[in-house]
Amino acid sequence: MARPANRIINAKLVLLGDMGTGKTSLVLRFIKGQFFDNQEPTIGAAFFTQILSLSEATVKFDIWDTAGQERYHSLAPMYYRGAAAAVVVYDISSMDTFVRAKKWVEELQRQGNTNLVMALVANKSDLDPKREVQNEDAEQFAQENGMFFIETSAKTARNINNLFFEIAKRLARTL
Ligand code: GDP
Ligand code: MG
Repeated sequence: MARPANRIINAKLVLLGDMGTGKTSLVLRFIKGQFFDNQEPTIGAAFFTQILSLSEATVKFDIWDTAGQERYHSLAPMYYRGAAAAVVVYDISSMDTFVRAKKWVEELQRQGNTNLVMALVANKSDLDPKREVQNEDAEQFAQENGMFFIETSAKTARNINNLFFEIAKRLARTL
């Protein structure tokens, strides 16, 4: 019999990555199961909560999405403060966004939180015919930086739940 999921973990999760990579779309797909082709870039300094139950724990995510501040390639320190998990997103059809994703990882590392669970997300996998970024390169970068790598599509819903479940599992192991 599975152990009761009696341990509750509160975890702040922040999304990083360039504008247009699909951060808001990933969150809306995860929380509401919806996708919009014309996602408003500045839908608000969004804050969402979502609960995932694992056999080992219940994880309550406080998800912080940007309101377009990433346009200026930096985010306020309060955005990162207290984060337990970070999701860095790029678009597989844009090499620029992958180059920028590496910069976002550097910025994260400057925050100095060594326990942070970090995911590198290759979004828009449905745009494979227009691919500019090879998974091998991203996987290698992820490995070098203690992140896990996952390819998603907010459009088709591919791996969206797996992304958040994997983060929850890692949080349950580290927190
Ligand atoms: P953000 O600026 O990082 O929050 O990106 P958005 O979530 O606003 O998405 C930017 C654009 O990319 C929107 O037009 C979305 O519909 C589109 N988009 C997001 N995710 C995907 C995806 O997985 N596949 C495709 N084809 N388009 C996506
Ligand atoms: Mg957004």
